[in-house]
Amino acid sequence: MSNQVDAAIRSREAFNLARAALNQMEKAQIWPTPLNFELWLHLICEPDGAIAQEIARLMSLGAVLTDAMAEELAVEHLPRLRLNDEIRDASDHLTEQMVAINRAIALAQISATEYGRTLEGASRQLADKPETGQIRHLIETLSISTRRVQKENATLESRLDQTTEEIKRLRSHLEQVRRDAMTDALTSLSNRKAFDDELKRACDAARAESKVLSVAIIDIDHFKRFNDTWGHQTGDQVIRYVSGLIARSSVHPRLAARYGGEEFAILFPGESADEVTGALDALRVDISSRALKRRSTAEDLGHVTVSAGVATLHQDDTPLTVMERADKALYVSKNAGRNRTTNAEVANLATMPAA
Ligand code: GH3
Ligand code: MG
Ligand code: MG
Repeated sequence: MSNQVDAAIRSREAFNLARAALNQMEKAQIWPTPLNFELWLHLICEPDGAIAQEIARLMSLGAVLTDAMAEELAVEHLPRLRLNDEIRDASDHLTEQMVAINRAIALAQISATEYGRTLEGASRQLADKPETGQIRHLIETLSISTRRVQKENATLESRLDQTTEEIKRLRSHLEQVRRDAMTDALTSLSNRKAFDDELKRACDAARAESKVLSVAIIDIDHFKRFNDTWGHQTGDQVIRYVSGLIARSSVHPRLAARYGGEEFAILFPGESADEVTGALDALRVDISSRALKRRSTAEDLGHVTVSAGVATLHQDDTPLTVMERADKALYVSKNAGRNRTTNAEVANLATMPAA
């Protein structure tokens, strides 16, 4: 939340603003998901803000705000989602500064040592010249001060070392938090946010290097039946089973993610939809070939099948549009009877309803 929105939703006008946000959402037929509601609160509280402008732009294009678009808007504009990156950047910066300070102290330490040696040499040279007694005394005093500076520098150096270590520890903790934020808890695959981030990066890289890139969406067939028949927990077990097989088939640089409830997405950098259709089909056949047993009672759950859609990035594609084509291809698979893979590059998607 921006400060302005944060203040507004705790002001006397708070409930009117919230109601206004919900009314607008209903009028625009936007689902009142927590994320959409947060975006609309920004729109209402900051009508000239970046979020309001971006939503107005999308609406004027006749776009329907999908969950994926909401996520993209949120990542781009909601400060809380950007905080992690900012903390990491700040810690990087701090570590750099500490290293620079450490280096400066080490150099000062070398100079002080050399200076100390020079003073000692001078003092030795003057030792057998009685007429220089006062100067010798002065030099000995300087030597003592120099040794004290050296000692203080050494203490400072070791304190800075400790602080640098502490920053490194915090940084690795933050990396862990970031990893958790990017991982789906049920399956340990990447989550949707991680996938969307990587998809964006991969699209940019594919364009910059003129390389091919494909995306696939895989959806468990008739999954609702599993839930309805065996309960949600067994449903979760099925999701984990499918995710395990998907993870095994997705070796680097492919990235597999849980994209939604019983939906998965895979990124194939450097591979065309033609090239990956075979691999997806092998995965699909592998999934459907195993008879599942319910873990708690060993009852036969039968076979689980999946449908897939795959698309290759086109010149004028955005991350969103290539995913939409993969999704349409998935629906072609569903409509054609499920348990199959459809390649958006060869299928006729035009006749299919938008997913
Ligand atoms: P289709 O072959 O057309 O994909 O049919 P389907 O039944 O798989 O599709 P539908 O979208 O109608 O149902 C998906 C169900 O998945 C609905 C929802 O309750 C369930 N679901 C979503 N997320 C989870 C989850 O994390 N765990 C479990 N157990 N069920 C989930
Ligand atoms: Mg399904
Ligand atoms: Mg689904």
